[in-house]
Amino acid sequence: MRVFTFDTTLRDGTQGEHVSFSVEDKLLVAQKLDELGIDYIEGGWPGSNPKDKEFFARAGELRLTHARLTAFGSTRFARNPVEEDRNVRALVEAGTPVVSIFGKSWDLHVKRALGISLEENLVLISETVEFLKRHGKEVVYDAEHFFDGYAAGPEYALRTLEAAHAAGADVLCLCDTNGGTLTSRLAEVVRVVRGRFDGVIGIHAHNDSDLAVANTLAAVEAGATHVQGCLNGYGERCGNANLASVIANLELKAECQTIGSEKLAGLAPACRFIADLANLTMRNDQPFVGKSAFAHKGGIHVSAVLKDSATYEHIRPEVVGNGQRVLVSDLSGRGNILFKLKQHGLAGRLDENARRELLERIKQMEHDGYELEAAEGTFELLVREAIRPGVRFFEVGSYDVSTRAGGRGPSRSDATVTVWARDGVHSETATGHGPFHALHLCLRKCLSDLYPQIAEVRLMDYKVRVLDSRKGTAAKVRVLIEWRDHDRAWSTVGVSDNVIEASWRALMDAIRLELMRLTEDDASIEKAVEDYSWGV
Ligand SMILES: [Zn+2]
Repeated sequence: MRVFTFDTTLRDGTQGEHVSFSVEDKLLVAQKLDELGIDYIEGGWPGSNPKDKEFFARAGELRLTHARLTAFGSTRFARNPVEEDRNVRALVEAGTPVVSIFGKSWDLHVKRALGISLEENLVLISETVEFLKRHGKEVVYDAEHFFDGYAAGPEYALRTLEAAHAAGADVLCLCDTNGGTLTSRLAEVVRVVRGRFDGVIGIHAHNDSDLAVANTLAAVEAGATHVQGCLNGYGERCGNANLASVIANLELKAECQTIGSEKLAGLAPACRFIADLANLTMRNDQPFVGKSAFAHKGGIHVSAVLKDSATYEHIRPEVVGNGQRVLVSDLSGRGNILFKLKQHGLAGRLDENARRELLERIKQMEHDGYELEAAEGTFELLVREAIRPGVRFFEVGSYDVSTRAGGRGPSRSDATVTVWARDGVHSETATGHGPFHALHLCLRKCLSDLYPQIAEVRLMDYKVRVLDSRKGTAAKVRVLIEWRDHDRAWSTVGVSDNVIEASWRALMDAIRLELMRLTEDDASIEKAVEDYSWGV
């Protein structure tokens, strides 16, 4: 059975307490969700805030190959005619093929929150759906508080669905908005709805009772074929159904087709990618995709797993893009890297020594706090350097930076950088808004004559994380920087106990990588790199 996946990380997910994405982040997340094979990407609420509006305005930059972009909003306000309702108009103007709108199913909400009659609410639903259908949209109707509404008054809750259905809604999505419904009860209600309506029934479950994934799966068993949630389970309060677990369970256990078995291997890397952009640490014990999901520590477990992994693993970790880890020896990650190089015939391009060196380098870097899954750029550079040892574009002689503050004006930073390159020694100074900005400007000045192409590399985002907060100010920091040139985006990472040094390393990696790429466009290396970020 085909079940459609609807990810709302960029809308409901951002309502989670610590989740925040810039517009640039949102574009990257959407691109990643598309790569993963998600059917619908809910990008935000264009009528509610300028950031979401900008996201839709820039959505043309996305290269979506599969997913249908969706704008979210509510049924029209009671006092506005539908064609004059700003929120509804913003939905049309967002220019997406799909619109999801929520309406009230619970009489308590209609009377208390909206302050209108029950009949009037039905008119709001039906007029809004009709209007959007007239504008050629695929309409997902989110029946807010459906299960609570149904418990309070099943007849009325069903009438709200009838209003949406008769007006042409393509999906009737039942929402457990407060997340309080028990699984057996929820399945019963989905069955009733399934029996009454043809077309696609959806489920949108919140996790307040820790049942969102179970409720979503039960809804599918009861006839729903459209599942909403967020990768990593982000969302308001306790979050939405974790779409990663929903997808893995549907694909691997419930014999449903969602993103397909091939794309499933991109699941864990996509979850890590999104956590990283959100600047949140992923829960290690997150089922299927967490770092510990297939980590074996106990002696008996380890020896059994090494003989046959099925002894202590419910699925093979590779199918969801995760890896087995044996904590006593901690060898698996590096084995995986080698496996990936071999798979693409690149291991042969590295002799035994180079391969060992690469593995040692990665091992040391991971030990030092680098996370290469999140920084494809840095990993790609390592592979390219190992394949072309001795390629040097420039050497840094020294760099120096200082910041002046005080008085009334803003602080300024001055930097000096000396670089040795093929055409001689370059020493430049520059002033920037901050120390990293000043260094970045300096380095570009030093290299711009010899390598004018690096002007294309733009810094898009900059994130710092403290790695070991127990050590206070002596803690190491990890700086993750996102870059973009005319046709791709990538991240690099630097780790140090000095934030400037960590930033500088990430900067060096970005520039060196661009130069490596420009001097050898080898698609197979890129492929291996992509696969590393998908597979380890
Ligand atoms: Zn929700």
